[in-house]
Amino acid sequence: MNPKHEILLIEDEKNICNFIVTTLKSNDYKVTYALNASSGLSLAASGCPDLILLDLGLPDMDGIDVIRNIRNWSNVPIIVISARTQEKEKVEALDAGADDYITKPFGISELMARIRTALRRFTLNNNSTISAQSIYSAKDLVIDYEKHVITISGKIIHFTQIEYKILTFLAQNAGKVITYDSLISHIWGPFADSNNRILRVNMANIRRKLESNPADPQYIFTEIGIGYRIIDNERM
Ligand code: CA
Repeated sequence: MNPKHEILLIEDEKNICNFIVTTLKSNDYKVTYALNASSGLSLAASGCPDLILLDLGLPDMDGIDVIRNIRNWSNVPIIVISARTQEKEKVEALDAGADDYITKPFGISELMARIRTALRRFTLNNNSTISAQSIYSAKDLVIDYEKHVITISGKIIHFTQIEYKILTFLAQNAGKVITYDSLISHIWGPFADSNNRILRVNMANIRRKLESNPADPQYIFTEIGIGYRIIDNERM
């Protein structure tokens, strides 16, 4: 049996806080919580949690600044929980270094799935052997980074260099939303025009090659106004 994962919850609404704490405990997580940003930050530093659940609207500090602060010294997974539905804030949180977000009201099973994915991805990035990381595999799709080969059901699919870079960047961050801007700056450099038309064109080509029905994607999902997410690596 694995030692329990410890989750730090930073949430100022007492009812929601109690609800999440109870839920996490009944799902066998160890939980600490803080009702404001400053005590959250000190618990993050002293407790070394395995994952942080962070509300963006806190009384003493903007949640985005909490993410930036933590990212100065830790790459612990951070999942943002927020009542805000505006895409702008989700994008800002992701670009500041959050791993994922979940919008209130959310279901327990959705929250648990996000937590499991973030913990798995973090463990994989930190502990796994090179060979385990050199393959991405989900459903019929396999990406072999070393051989530069992408197959669907064993059949090799050819991608342009740009398409390959987009696909592998998503796959190396499988399960996580990648914002348009971070994709664009990864592929075309930090000074690239952030107009995402060229990205959309490439994505349409990738989908045509990858998906049997691009209108009902099985692999790459669009988070409207935010970015793209490829399904989890089953090799994890
Ligand atoms: Ca709040």
